[in-house]
Amino acid sequence: MFTKDIGIDLGTANTLVYLRGKGIIIREPSVVAVNTHTDKCRYVGKEAKEIIGRTPGSIVAVKPLKDGVIADFDIATTMLQEFIKKALKGTIFTKANVIICVPSGVTAVERRAVREACQKAGANKNNVLIIEEPMAAAIGAGLPTNSPSGSMIVDIGGGTSEVAVISMGGIVASRSIRCAGDEFDNAIINYIKKKYNLLIGEPTAEKMKLEIGSAFPHEKEASMEIKGRNLLNGLPENIIINSAEIRDALVEPLSRVVDAIRATLEETPPELSADIIENGITLSGGSALLRGLDRLINRETGMPIYIAEYPLDCVAEGMGKILEKINDYQDALTENIRYY
Ligand code: ADP
Ligand code: MG
Repeated sequence: MFTKDIGIDLGTANTLVYLRGKGIIIREPSVVAVNTHTDKCRYVGKEAKEIIGRTPGSIVAVKPLKDGVIADFDIATTMLQEFIKKALKGTIFTKANVIICVPSGVTAVERRAVREACQKAGANKNNVLIIEEPMAAAIGAGLPTNSPSGSMIVDIGGGTSEVAVISMGGIVASRSIRCAGDEFDNAIINYIKKKYNLLIGEPTAEKMKLEIGSAFPHEKEASMEIKGRNLLNGLPENIIINSAEIRDALVEPLSRVVDAIRATLEETPPELSADIIENGITLSGGSALLRGLDRLINRETGMPIYIAEYPLDCVAEGMGKILEKINDYQDALTENIRYY
Protein backbone atom coordinates (compact mmCIF):
# COMPACT_ATOMS: atom_id res chain seq x y z
CA MET A 1 0.00 0.00 0.00
CA PHE A 2 1.40 3.38 -1.00
CA THR A 3 0.82 6.49 1.01
CA LYS A 4 0.83 10.02 -0.22
CA ASP A 5 0.82 13.19 1.82
CA ILE A 6 -1.66 15.85 0.88
CA GLY A 7 -2.67 19.20 2.34
CA ILE A 8 -6.28 20.28 1.92
CA ASP A 9 -7.44 23.88 2.18
CA LEU A 10 -11.16 23.22 2.63
CA GLY A 11 -12.43 26.77 2.14
CA THR A 12 -15.98 28.10 2.08
CA ALA A 13 -15.44 29.35 -1.47
CA ASN A 14 -12.57 27.24 -2.83
CA THR A 15 -10.90 23.94 -2.02
CA LEU A 16 -7.21 23.52 -2.85
CA VAL A 17 -5.20 20.33 -2.62
CA TYR A 18 -1.40 20.26 -2.29
CA LEU A 19 0.37 16.99 -3.10
CA ARG A 20 3.77 16.60 -1.46
CA GLY A 21 6.50 16.68 -4.06
CA LYS A 22 4.15 18.15 -6.68
CA GLY A 23 2.60 21.38 -5.37
CA ILE A 24 -0.98 22.59 -5.68
CA ILE A 25 -2.79 20.19 -8.02
CA ILE A 26 -6.44 21.04 -7.37
CA ARG A 27 -8.11 24.43 -7.20
CA GLU A 28 -11.89 24.17 -7.38
CA PRO A 29 -14.93 25.94 -6.00
CA SER A 30 -16.41 24.21 -2.92
CA VAL A 31 -19.67 23.47 -4.67
CA VAL A 32 -21.56 20.25 -5.36
CA ALA A 33 -24.54 19.81 -7.69
CA VAL A 34 -27.02 17.36 -6.21
CA ASN A 35 -30.00 15.65 -7.82
CA THR A 36 -32.78 16.11 -5.28
CA HIS A 37 -34.76 13.08 -6.51
CA THR A 38 -31.94 10.60 -6.06
CA ASP A 39 -29.73 12.53 -3.60
CA LYS A 40 -26.82 11.74 -5.93
CA CYS A 41 -24.06 14.25 -6.56
CA ARG A 42 -24.00 15.12 -10.23
CA TYR A 43 -21.07 17.51 -10.42
CA VAL A 44 -18.35 18.66 -8.06
CA GLY A 45 -16.25 21.83 -8.18
CA LYS A 46 -16.04 24.06 -11.27
CA GLU A 47 -18.86 22.38 -13.19
CA ALA A 48 -21.15 22.60 -10.19
CA LYS A 49 -20.44 26.30 -9.65
CA GLU A 50 -21.35 27.14 -13.22
CA ILE A 51 -24.90 25.92 -12.72
CA ILE A 52 -25.69 27.86 -9.52
CA GLY A 53 -28.99 29.68 -9.89
CA ARG A 54 -29.72 28.23 -13.33
CA THR A 55 -30.61 24.60 -12.69
CA PRO A 56 -33.91 22.79 -13.23
CA GLY A 57 -35.76 22.06 -10.00
CA SER A 58 -34.32 18.59 -9.62
CA ILE A 59 -30.67 19.68 -9.53
CA VAL A 60 -29.49 22.08 -6.86
CA ALA A 61 -26.03 23.47 -6.32
CA VAL A 62 -24.99 23.11 -2.69
CA LYS A 63 -22.11 24.79 -0.89
CA PRO A 64 -21.34 22.27 1.87
CA LEU A 65 -19.36 24.82 3.88
CA LYS A 66 -20.67 27.93 5.48
CA ASP A 67 -18.68 30.48 7.45
CA GLY A 68 -15.59 28.29 7.27
CA VAL A 69 -17.20 25.19 8.77
CA ILE A 70 -19.01 22.14 7.45
CA ALA A 71 -22.72 22.87 7.11
CA ASP A 72 -23.68 19.70 5.24
CA PHE A 73 -21.62 16.73 6.38
CA ASP A 74 -22.59 14.17 3.72
CA ILE A 75 -22.08 16.55 0.83
CA ALA A 76 -18.80 17.84 2.24
CA THR A 77 -17.62 14.24 2.53
CA THR A 78 -18.58 13.47 -1.06
CA MET A 79 -16.79 16.58 -2.23
CA LEU A 80 -13.63 15.69 -0.29
CA GLN A 81 -13.86 12.15 -1.65
CA GLU A 82 -13.94 13.42 -5.23
CA PHE A 83 -11.03 15.79 -4.67
CA ILE A 84 -8.91 13.20 -2.84
CA LYS A 85 -9.63 10.66 -5.59
CA LYS A 86 -8.59 13.20 -8.21
CA ALA A 87 -5.42 14.05 -6.27
CA LEU A 88 -4.38 10.41 -6.01
CA LYS A 89 -5.49 9.44 -9.51
CA GLY A 90 -3.71 6.64 -11.27
CA THR A 91 -2.37 5.19 -8.07
CA ILE A 92 -4.66 2.46 -6.85
CA PHE A 93 -4.08 1.01 -3.41
CA THR A 94 -3.09 4.43 -2.24
CA LYS A 95 -4.08 6.04 1.00
CA ALA A 96 -3.50 9.64 1.92
CA ASN A 97 -2.05 11.19 5.01
CA VAL A 98 -3.95 14.43 5.26
CA ILE A 99 -3.23 17.76 6.80
CA ILE A 100 -6.22 20.07 6.71
CA CYS A 101 -7.06 23.56 7.95
CA VAL A 102 -9.87 24.94 10.05
CA PRO A 103 -10.55 28.56 10.99
CA SER A 104 -9.03 29.45 14.34
CA GLY A 105 -12.40 30.15 15.97
CA VAL A 106 -14.10 26.81 15.42
CA THR A 107 -15.56 24.61 18.14
CA ALA A 108 -14.37 21.10 19.00
CA VAL A 109 -17.47 19.68 17.33
CA GLU A 110 -16.77 21.58 14.12
CA ARG A 111 -13.18 20.33 14.16
CA ARG A 112 -14.28 16.77 14.65
CA ALA A 113 -16.65 17.06 11.69
CA VAL A 114 -13.73 18.05 9.44
CA ARG A 115 -11.64 15.18 10.71
CA GLU A 116 -14.42 12.62 10.27
CA ALA A 117 -15.26 13.89 6.80
CA CYS A 118 -11.60 13.34 5.79
CA GLN A 119 -11.55 9.85 7.26
CA LYS A 120 -14.78 8.92 5.50
CA ALA A 121 -13.46 10.40 2.28
CA GLY A 122 -10.54 7.99 2.25
CA ALA A 123 -7.77 9.52 4.34
CA ASN A 124 -5.62 7.31 6.54
CA LYS A 125 -7.62 6.83 9.72
CA ASN A 126 -4.79 7.75 12.05
CA ASN A 127 -3.22 10.40 9.95
CA VAL A 128 -5.47 13.39 9.66
CA LEU A 129 -3.82 16.44 11.16
CA ILE A 130 -5.69 19.66 11.71
CA ILE A 131 -3.90 22.99 11.65
CA GLU A 132 -5.25 26.45 12.24
CA GLU A 133 -5.76 28.38 9.06
CA PRO A 134 -3.98 31.64 9.92
CA MET A 135 -0.83 29.70 10.79
CA ALA A 136 -0.87 27.96 7.41
CA ALA A 137 -1.63 31.26 5.67
CA ALA A 138 1.29 32.99 7.41
CA ILE A 139 3.71 30.19 6.49
CA GLY A 140 2.41 30.20 2.92
CA ALA A 141 2.77 33.98 2.66
CA GLY A 142 6.43 33.57 3.63
CA LEU A 143 6.23 35.33 7.00
CA PRO A 144 9.00 34.48 9.48
CA THR A 145 6.65 32.46 11.69
CA ASN A 146 9.43 30.71 13.59
CA SER A 147 11.31 33.86 14.54
CA PRO A 148 10.77 35.69 17.84
CA SER A 149 9.74 38.76 15.87
CA GLY A 150 5.95 39.26 15.63
CA SER A 151 4.09 39.06 12.30
CA MET A 152 0.45 39.74 11.58
CA ILE A 153 -1.52 37.82 8.98
CA VAL A 154 -5.08 38.72 7.94
CA ASP A 155 -6.69 36.02 5.77
CA ILE A 156 -9.96 37.23 4.25
CA GLY A 157 -11.62 34.40 2.34
CA GLY A 158 -15.23 33.68 1.46
CA GLY A 159 -16.66 32.68 4.83
CA THR A 160 -14.30 33.94 7.51
CA SER A 161 -11.70 36.59 8.14
CA GLU A 162 -8.84 35.31 10.26
CA VAL A 163 -6.58 37.74 12.04
CA ALA A 164 -3.53 36.44 13.89
CA VAL A 165 -0.30 37.64 15.41
CA ILE A 166 2.35 34.95 15.18
CA SER A 167 5.69 34.64 16.93
CA MET A 168 8.03 31.69 17.66
CA GLY A 169 5.86 29.26 15.72
CA GLY A 170 2.68 29.98 17.69
CA ILE A 171 -0.39 32.21 17.60
CA VAL A 172 -0.11 34.96 20.20
CA ALA A 173 -3.37 36.81 19.58
CA SER A 174 -6.15 36.11 17.13
CA ARG A 175 -9.69 36.83 16.01
CA SER A 176 -11.86 34.87 13.62
CA ILE A 177 -15.04 36.52 12.39
CA ARG A 178 -17.69 35.06 10.15
CA CYS A 179 -17.60 37.99 7.80
CA ALA A 180 -15.68 37.91 4.50
CA GLY A 181 -16.32 37.69 0.74
CA ASP A 182 -19.75 36.04 1.06
CA GLU A 183 -20.89 38.79 3.41
CA PHE A 184 -19.59 41.39 0.96
CA ASP A 185 -21.77 39.79 -1.73
CA ASN A 186 -24.78 39.76 0.62
CA ALA A 187 -24.25 43.41 1.46
CA ILE A 188 -24.33 44.23 -2.27
CA ILE A 189 -27.56 42.22 -2.72
CA ASN A 190 -29.20 44.08 0.17
CA TYR A 191 -28.02 47.48 -1.01
CA ILE A 192 -29.47 46.96 -4.50
CA LYS A 193 -32.69 45.61 -3.03
CA LYS A 194 -33.12 48.63 -0.78
CA LYS A 195 -32.08 51.31 -3.24
CA TYR A 196 -33.60 49.95 -6.47
CA ASN A 197 -36.18 47.37 -5.34
CA LEU A 198 -34.26 44.95 -7.49
CA LEU A 199 -33.46 41.37 -6.54
CA ILE A 200 -30.16 40.02 -7.84
CA GLY A 201 -28.50 36.64 -7.35
CA GLU A 202 -25.23 35.85 -5.55
CA PRO A 203 -23.25 35.28 -8.75
CA THR A 204 -24.26 38.74 -10.02
CA ALA A 205 -23.29 40.37 -6.72
CA GLU A 206 -19.90 38.62 -6.74
CA LYS A 207 -19.33 39.62 -10.36
CA MET A 208 -19.97 43.28 -9.52
CA LYS A 209 -17.59 43.07 -6.57
CA LEU A 210 -14.84 41.59 -8.75
CA GLU A 211 -15.32 43.91 -11.71
CA ILE A 212 -16.14 47.31 -10.21
CA GLY A 213 -15.90 46.80 -6.45
CA SER A 214 -13.45 48.61 -4.21
CA ALA A 215 -12.84 49.45 -0.59
CA PHE A 216 -11.21 52.83 -1.26
CA PRO A 217 -11.73 55.46 -4.00
CA HIS A 218 -9.41 54.98 -6.98
CA GLU A 219 -8.79 56.40 -10.43
CA LYS A 220 -10.41 53.70 -12.50
CA GLU A 221 -13.96 53.93 -11.16
CA ALA A 222 -16.39 52.18 -13.47
CA SER A 223 -19.99 51.18 -13.85
CA MET A 224 -21.74 48.10 -15.12
CA GLU A 225 -25.16 47.00 -16.21
CA ILE A 226 -26.82 44.25 -14.23
CA LYS A 227 -29.96 42.18 -14.56
CA GLY A 228 -32.37 41.45 -11.75
CA ARG A 229 -36.02 41.08 -10.90
CA ASN A 230 -38.04 44.12 -9.92
CA LEU A 231 -39.63 43.37 -6.55
CA LEU A 232 -42.60 45.67 -7.16
CA ASN A 233 -43.86 44.31 -10.48
CA GLY A 234 -41.97 41.00 -10.62
CA LEU A 235 -40.48 41.74 -14.03
CA PRO A 236 -36.85 41.45 -15.17
CA GLU A 237 -35.07 44.79 -15.25
CA ASN A 238 -31.60 46.13 -16.10
CA ILE A 239 -29.92 48.89 -14.12
CA ILE A 240 -26.51 50.52 -14.11
CA ILE A 241 -24.43 50.45 -10.92
CA ASN A 242 -21.16 52.30 -10.30
CA SER A 243 -18.09 51.70 -8.14
CA ALA A 244 -19.05 54.27 -5.53
CA GLU A 245 -22.33 52.47 -4.90
CA ILE A 246 -20.58 49.13 -4.37
CA ARG A 247 -18.19 50.87 -1.99
CA ASP A 248 -21.18 52.23 -0.03
CA ALA A 249 -22.66 48.76 0.13
CA LEU A 250 -19.40 47.34 1.53
CA VAL A 251 -18.88 49.89 4.31
CA GLU A 252 -20.51 47.82 7.04
CA PRO A 253 -18.89 44.41 6.44
CA LEU A 254 -15.50 46.04 5.82
CA SER A 255 -15.73 47.91 9.11
CA ARG A 256 -16.25 44.57 10.86
CA VAL A 257 -13.02 43.28 9.34
CA VAL A 258 -11.18 46.44 10.37
CA ASP A 259 -12.59 46.15 13.92
CA ALA A 260 -11.28 42.57 14.17
CA ILE A 261 -7.80 43.77 13.14
CA ARG A 262 -7.93 46.62 15.67
CA ALA A 263 -9.09 44.32 18.47
CA THR A 264 -6.25 41.89 17.76
CA LEU A 265 -3.71 44.70 17.71
CA GLU A 266 -5.01 45.87 21.10
CA GLU A 267 -4.42 42.39 22.53
CA THR A 268 -0.90 42.12 21.16
CA PRO A 269 1.95 42.41 23.70
CA PRO A 270 3.82 45.73 23.20
CA GLU A 271 7.10 44.17 22.04
CA LEU A 272 5.30 42.38 19.26
CA SER A 273 3.26 45.48 18.36
CA ALA A 274 6.52 47.27 17.73
CA ASP A 275 7.48 44.48 15.28
CA ILE A 276 4.17 44.83 13.47
CA ILE A 277 4.60 48.59 13.12
CA GLU A 278 7.95 47.76 11.53
CA ASN A 279 6.98 44.73 9.42
CA GLY A 280 3.40 45.62 8.64
CA ILE A 281 0.32 43.46 8.16
CA THR A 282 0.15 40.84 5.40
CA LEU A 283 -3.17 40.14 3.69
CA SER A 284 -4.07 36.76 2.19
CA GLY A 285 -7.24 35.00 0.99
CA GLY A 286 -9.23 35.83 -2.14
CA SER A 287 -10.85 38.92 -0.65
CA ALA A 288 -7.38 40.46 -0.15
CA LEU A 289 -7.71 41.14 -3.88
CA LEU A 290 -10.56 43.58 -3.33
CA ARG A 291 -9.31 46.80 -4.87
CA GLY A 292 -8.14 49.35 -2.29
CA LEU A 293 -8.57 47.08 0.73
CA ASP A 294 -4.91 47.57 1.62
CA ARG A 295 -5.37 51.35 1.53
CA LEU A 296 -8.48 51.19 3.69
CA ILE A 297 -6.79 49.04 6.36
CA ASN A 298 -3.73 51.27 6.23
CA ARG A 299 -5.86 54.36 6.82
CA GLU A 300 -7.78 52.71 9.66
CA THR A 301 -4.83 51.18 11.52
CA GLY A 302 -1.83 53.24 10.46
CA MET A 303 0.13 50.03 9.79
CA PRO A 304 1.95 49.30 6.53
CA ILE A 305 -0.07 46.74 4.55
CA TYR A 306 1.28 44.12 2.15
CA ILE A 307 -0.75 41.78 -0.02
CA ALA A 308 0.67 38.26 -0.32
CA GLU A 309 1.92 37.47 -3.81
CA TYR A 310 -0.66 34.69 -4.40
CA PRO A 311 -3.33 35.41 -1.82
CA LEU A 312 -5.63 32.57 -2.91
CA ASP A 313 -2.84 30.00 -2.55
CA CYS A 314 -1.32 30.97 0.81
CA VAL A 315 -3.10 28.42 3.00
CA ALA A 316 -2.42 25.51 0.64
CA GLU A 317 1.18 26.61 0.07
CA GLY A 318 1.63 26.88 3.85
CA MET A 319 0.45 23.31 4.37
CA GLY A 320 2.71 22.32 1.49
CA LYS A 321 5.74 23.87 3.19
CA ILE A 322 4.86 21.96 6.35
CA LEU A 323 4.55 18.69 4.41
CA GLU A 324 7.84 19.22 2.61
CA LYS A 325 9.80 20.23 5.70
CA ILE A 326 7.98 18.83 8.65
CA ASN A 327 10.99 19.23 10.97
CA ASP A 328 11.16 22.97 10.49
CA TYR A 329 7.61 23.41 11.65
CA GLN A 330 7.49 21.31 14.81
CA ASP A 331 6.61 24.37 16.88
CA ALA A 332 3.80 25.34 14.57
CA LEU A 333 2.59 21.78 14.66
CA THR A 334 2.63 21.18 18.38
CA GLU A 335 0.99 24.54 19.01
CA ASN A 336 -1.62 24.22 16.35
CA ILE A 337 -2.41 20.64 15.66
CA ARG A 338 -4.88 19.01 17.97
CA TYR A 339 -5.11 15.26 18.01
CA TYR A 340 -8.30 13.52 19.00
P1 ADP B 1 -12.13 30.52 1.17
O1 ADP B 1 -10.79 30.24 1.75
O2 ADP B 1 -13.15 30.92 2.18
O3 ADP B 1 -12.61 29.42 0.28
P2 ADP B 1 -10.83 32.20 -0.78
O4 ADP B 1 -9.58 32.61 -0.10
O5 ADP B 1 -10.74 31.15 -1.81
O6 ADP B 1 -11.98 31.82 0.27
O7 ADP B 1 -11.47 33.52 -1.41
C1 ADP B 1 -12.71 33.51 -2.02
C2 ADP B 1 -13.34 34.86 -1.88
O8 ADP B 1 -12.49 35.83 -2.50
C3 ADP B 1 -14.69 34.95 -2.59
O9 ADP B 1 -15.62 35.59 -1.74
C4 ADP B 1 -14.38 35.81 -3.81
O10 ADP B 1 -15.50 36.59 -4.20
C5 ADP B 1 -13.26 36.69 -3.29
N1 ADP B 1 -12.41 37.24 -4.36
C6 ADP B 1 -11.66 36.57 -5.27
N2 ADP B 1 -11.04 37.43 -6.11
C7 ADP B 1 -11.42 38.68 -5.73
C8 ADP B 1 -11.15 40.00 -6.22
N3 ADP B 1 -10.35 40.21 -7.26
N4 ADP B 1 -11.72 41.04 -5.58
C9 ADP B 1 -12.53 40.86 -4.53
N5 ADP B 1 -12.84 39.64 -4.02
C10 ADP B 1 -12.29 38.56 -4.60
MG1 MG C 1 -9.34 30.20 3.02
